[in-house]
Amino acid sequence: MKDLCLLALDAAKAKGATYADARVVQFRRQYVVTEDQRVSAIQDSESLGIGVRVIADGAWGFAATASLEKGEVERVAALAVETAKASALAKAPEGVHWAQEPPHEGTFRTPIEKNPFEVPLEDKIQVLLSANKEILAVKGIKKAHSYMLFKQEHRYLANTEGSMIESETFTSTATIRATAVDEETAKTRYFEAHPLNIGYEHIASTPLVAEARRVGEEAVAQLKGKPCPVGKKDLVLHPSHLALTMHESIGHATELDRVLGMEESLAGSSFATIDKLGNLKYGSPIMNIICDNTLPQGLATSGYDDDCVPGRKWHIIRDGILVDYQSGREVCHAIGAKSSRGSCRADSWASIPIIRQSNIGLAPGTEPLTLEEMIADTKDGIYIEGMGSFSIDQKRQNFQFGGDCSWEIKDGKKGAILKDVTYQAITTEFWGSLDAICDEQSWTPYGILGCGKGDPMQIAQMSHGSAPARFRQINVGGTK
Ligand SMILES: [Zn+2]
Repeated sequence: MKDLCLLALDAAKAKGATYADARVVQFRRQYVVTEDQRVSAIQDSESLGIGVRVIADGAWGFAATASLEKGEVERVAALAVETAKASALAKAPEGVHWAQEPPHEGTFRTPIEKNPFEVPLEDKIQVLLSANKEILAVKGIKKAHSYMLFKQEHRYLANTEGSMIESETFTSTATIRATAVDEETAKTRYFEAHPLNIGYEHIASTPLVAEARRVGEEAVAQLKGKPCPVGKKDLVLHPSHLALTMHESIGHATELDRVLGMEESLAGSSFATIDKLGNLKYGSPIMNIICDNTLPQGLATSGYDDDCVPGRKWHIIRDGILVDYQSGREVCHAIGAKSSRGSCRADSWASIPIIRQSNIGLAPGTEPLTLEEMIADTKDGIYIEGMGSFSIDQKRQNFQFGGDCSWEIKDGKKGAILKDVTYQAITTEFWGSLDAICDEQSWTPYGILGCGKGDPMQIAQMSHGSAPARFRQINVGGTK
């Protein structure tokens, strides 16, 4: 595979490329789904191919093929150069800025104890059906739906600067979901072995079956839940919920290509423009947002990004102030940075790398604080777990989020289940109201597996960790 990458680089240089990288990726995905007491889907797919990206005449070209024949690899490399030369007719006068990066030779492998692809399908189905059985045993439940998803990506990446990288990553996750129905409506509740780059040991150590009955009971309880109050409440948000709020209101808003207006497909542009770098009050002084592509088990942790930049760790928000972005080698010059933060990834050998969210997390509080203590310290609030509905505007400012299950907090006690809870806020006001974060003991990296970006769309994954956090006086209710 390494030889094929080098062959592609030589072919591209011979045709006039001033820079080239070649990526051979072998990808496997297994998805096992059960509904009630039957298996409803088993998908197991593999793909293998090479993508060649070049700069020629100061413009980009890219071409890819699923054939690893030598002649075909040379043809694709030449096609990438031809495309670049054609693109150069309409390029920006200054051409492509390409930040310097020393050559890297390295390997990375997700540490796993048990390869998920070596676990028999029967074992996986057994766990899912057992969980479904427990859910269906709860009175009022109409449907149980559960799945496991596993990914393996083996990548060889080389460039004309001398980098030669090999990586192998594994992703594992499982979710069980209960649906309760009455005459008026339906409510769902889920529980998961949250997505991580890890082996099957993660699934095996998550009590999917043991928690199933509670999941069913909480779905039913939501049918009879108290209506969401309307007005201002203090919100205590569990990391399983806050992950999506961070993803939408911080993650996408700080992708440098989006900030610069180079990419607006799907998720729009950003209010956090570069004139605000170093002075925008994104949130309260206890808000520290750290990108970390070295995070153990992180969904975006793969050793190096597709620009051949090693995984890095940096603040984008420090003490509440916007101090940096997520960047790639092409765009980092726009903020005066000499080198990339290493956030450029492609979703397959057939896709060109684009700036993707890193693993982004909210740093835990520095004082000892548990979730129970945080709730005990909250007079009149709402506690939210899990991801639900969301919407956010094209500048990433006005948003609305719902969760998977919510409870009222009255005089320091977690009380009744509420239904149809949503909250609305403006990004900087919301993060500005952050007044407490639990300590590192409860810091957990939840994650997103289906982040869409680009045109044609690419799907990426990344982790968003936090400890439970409290936001004061946020508008809730008013929607159904
Ligand atoms: Zn996204």
